[in-house]
Amino acid sequence: RPVAGPRPIQQLSQDVVNKIAAAEIIHRPSNAIKELLENSLDAGSTSIKVTAKDGGLKSMMITDNGHGIRKEDLPLLCQRFATSKLRAFSDLQSLNTYGFRGEALASISFVSRVSVITKTAQEPTGWKAHYSQGKLVAPNRVGSADPRPSAANQGTIITAEDLFYDVPLRRKSFKSGADEYNRIIDVVTRYAVHNPHVAWVCKKHGTNQPEVSTASGSNCLSNIGLLYGSALSRELLAFGPAEDKKFGIVKVHGYASGAGHNGKKGILLLFINNRLVESNKFRKAIEALYTAFLPKGSYPFVYLSLEIEPHRVDVNVHPTKSEVHFLDEDAVVELVMNEISKALANANASRSYSVQT
Ligand code: ADP
Ligand code: MG
Repeated sequence: RPVAGPRPIQQLSQDVVNKIAAAEIIHRPSNAIKELLENSLDAGSTSIKVTAKDGGLKSMMITDNGHGIRKEDLPLLCQRFATSKLRAFSDLQSLNTYGFRGEALASISFVSRVSVITKTAQEPTGWKAHYSQGKLVAPNRVGSADPRPSAANQGTIITAEDLFYDVPLRRKSFKSGADEYNRIIDVVTRYAVHNPHVAWVCKKHGTNQPEVSTASGSNCLSNIGLLYGSALSRELLAFGPAEDKKFGIVKVHGYASGAGHNGKKGILLLFINNRLVESNKFRKAIEALYTAFLPKGSYPFVYLSLEIEPHRVDVNVHPTKSEVHFLDEDAVVELVMNEISKALANANASRSYSVQT
C-alpha cells in the first residue's frame, strides 16, 4: 500500500452528522416506541395507544390524550436539539421529564417518514404536519409544507412509517417483524406496570385484539397480574417503601417473587427516577441474592422503583438513555438488596411458622 500523505480534515455536513446521531439513538422500532411513549407521558397523557405494523418496521403510531403541541411549535418539532423541556444545562439536575435533549423526534424523522396530528386545549382545531430529515415537508412532496387544519381530539398522534428506508444495512438486519413486535410489547408492558394511572393499549395494525390493554387508574400489582399472569402476582412480596438520607434515596419500593416462583428466565423491571433502565450491577446483585432462595435454573421476577435525589443522578450518559449513573452506586445497591432480602426472609419465616403449627 503506497504511503500517501494525510488526507485533509473536513467538517462533516449537517446532514451526515444528523444521520449518524439518529442511527445511534434509534437502533430498532422499540427504541422509537420508547421515545414516543415517554413524550406522551411528559405531555401528561392518561391514555396512550400504540399500533404497529410489521413490528413497527412498516409503521408505528402512538395516540395520546396529552396537552398537544402548539401550532407555532410545529416547524421546530423535529429539529435536532429543539425541546420544550430544558433551557439551561443546570436544569438537568432538577429534571422531572423523560425528555431533555430534543433529539428523539429529529432522529426518528431522519430514519423514517413522520407525520403528526395534534390539538391543544387552547386551539379550536387540530393541525396535521409531515416531516422528513428534521423539516416540515409537503405530503407526497407536492404543495405547501405548512401544517394544515385537521379534525382532532385533544392530544397527539405521531406516525412513523418505513423505518430505516434510507439505511439499508439497518433495515436488512431485522429478520422478522414478530421479534420486533415482541420487543415493543415488552417496552409498553414495562411502562404500563410503572404507570398504572395511564390506560395503555398496544396492538398490531388491523386487529382488534390488543396484546396490552390496561384500565386507567389501575395499580402496579394488578397490572403485573394482568400482563405477567396472576400466578406470578400471587407469589409477589412487596418490599419498601424505604428511604435513606445519607445516600439520597428518596424512596425505594417494589415487588419481588418469593421462593414459590420458578421463572425460566429472570425478569427485572428497573426504574430509576421513573426511567426504564438497564443495570448490570442491579442484575448481578439480585442474582446473587436469590441463589440462597431458589433452586438452580430458576429465576426471580423483580419490579423495582428507585427514586434518588435528582442532583445525585446523571441521566445524560447514554444515547438511548437506557443507563443512568448515580453517586455511591455500590452502597445504594446494597441498601436496596437489603430491602428485598428482608421481604424474602419475612416470607420464609412465616412459611416455616405455618409449617410448624
Ligand atoms: P424531548 O422530549 O427531549 O424534548 P423530542 O424530540 O422527544 O425531545 O420532542 C420534542 C418536543 O416535541 C418536546 O419537547 C415536546 O415539546 C414536543 N412533543 C413531542 N411529543 C409530544 C407529545 N406526544 N405531546 C406533546 N408534545 C410533544
Ligand atoms: Mg422526548
